[in-house]
Amino acid sequence: MAAALTLGLRGHHVIIVEGAPKLAEVGAGIQVSPNMLRLLERWGVADLVHATDVALEHIHVLRWEDGSTLGTMPVNKTFGQQVVIHRADLHNALIEKALALKNVELRVNSPVADVQFDPPSVTLTNGTVVSGDVVLAGDGIKSVIRGKLLEDTSIKASPVGDAVYRVILPRSVMVKDPELKKLIDEPQATRWVGPGRHVIAYPVRKHELYNVVLTHPDRGGVDESWTTKGSKQSMINDYLGWDSRVRKIIDLVADDEILEWKLCLHPPLRTWIRGRVALLGDACHPMLPYVAQGAAQAVEDAAALGILLSNISSKWEIPLALQAYEKSRKHRAETVQQSGTENRHILHLPDGPEQRARDEQFRASMTSGANPDKWADRETQKFLWGWDAEESAREAWHDVERRELKLNASL
Ligand SMILES: Cc1cc2nc3c(=O)[nH]c(=O)nc-3n(C[C@H](O)[C@H](O)[C@H](O)COP(=O)(O)OP(=O)(O)OC[C@H]3O[C@@H](n4cnc5c(N)ncnc54)[C@H](O)[C@@H]3O)c2cc1C
Repeated sequence: MAAALTLGLRGHHVIIVEGAPKLAEVGAGIQVSPNMLRLLERWGVADLVHATDVALEHIHVLRWEDGSTLGTMPVNKTFGQQVVIHRADLHNALIEKALALKNVELRVNSPVADVQFDPPSVTLTNGTVVSGDVVLAGDGIKSVIRGKLLEDTSIKASPVGDAVYRVILPRSVMVKDPELKKLIDEPQATRWVGPGRHVIAYPVRKHELYNVVLTHPDRGGVDESWTTKGSKQSMINDYLGWDSRVRKIIDLVADDEILEWKLCLHPPLRTWIRGRVALLGDACHPMLPYVAQGAAQAVEDAAALGILLSNISSKWEIPLALQAYEKSRKHRAETVQQSGTENRHILHLPDGPEQRARDEQFRASMTSGANPDKWADRETQKFLWGWDAEESAREAWHDVERRELKLNASL
């Protein structure tokens, strides 16, 4: 949807073929990190985002057992605000802006079964062929087009050993308890860290909803899916003995409202492009949630495509534009993709000398020094949040253009 918006804003005619019968409110909380927010500002979506988001002010890191504070960090605003939002609200903001453009068309209930590369087109499951000058495949973690583009459907993700429960609580139930009311009222993210587990929680939808993500050891039995239901009893057992606020949150969850998602590390792909077809988003770099960059990296891809497909002067240059797209995006997104796993080790240390040293580092990071939590670490933030995907795309285009000029001169 972000790609449709940025390309639509630049005057391209975009047809979105969406497999779902209709666009529905799915998902839970998501972070709009500064690298993504700056792009949304440029595309005129930021006001809609701010109408439903919560701008974080602090990140608290707490010990699992008693909820004592290990560290409190003010949000680093060097690169702009860090906001959190319900995925559906972010999605709706992008949909509203994109579909307001006359040159952007959405076709729901249109699952893609196949792709053709020359000339580019997709074939829907009902046999309809939709063609264009370029096919951009943002068909998610279970992408159909990825396997066809790579001529390889055997690429396997490796389970990292964790799964997460995802829970959303309404304000009406949180405010009945003074401790929980404080959690939903304040613009802060709270992280509890403990042996083999951690919890991250923050308010979304202008403090009307509380989003909680509980990471725990993967016992098998769940799929890498955003819609698999989890068991409340397993969740209770997973957090026995944790801070009373965590246990109270779990008690409040309705039995059928727990979603469980298996975390897997996906290997970098050989390529993201073939002719005039390109992959973007989770189709080519599904992310682990440890540094909260899943949506942001997909939006960065969209930003690069918006620039590169608008820099060219004829459709014959599309393959070149896609080469520049891969050049500007692949290394960046894959570095982010592979970066989260060390965070898992640090956050999940068993109680003992290593954990005590880490907790000391959390305390020290309040005044200076590195933060053991990569998501809150300033150096990591500089790399993640300081990036300008549109600028990087322009640079990649100049490089590809220069290479072509040299090549033509030598012929
Ligand atoms: C249901 C759902 C819930 C999510 N919840 C969260 C969350 O709570 N927190 C979080 O951080 N991230 C969540 N994510 C992931 C996050 O949205 C993505 O990491 C990120 O936004 C990347 O987006 P994407 O567009 O590449 O992929 P996705 O967001 O997965 O979008 C892919 C789109 O392609 C469509 N599609 C797939 N196959 C086909 C096909 N063959 N033909 C046509 N259309 C097809 C899908 O219906 C979907 O609309 C969720 C994703 C989904 C799908």
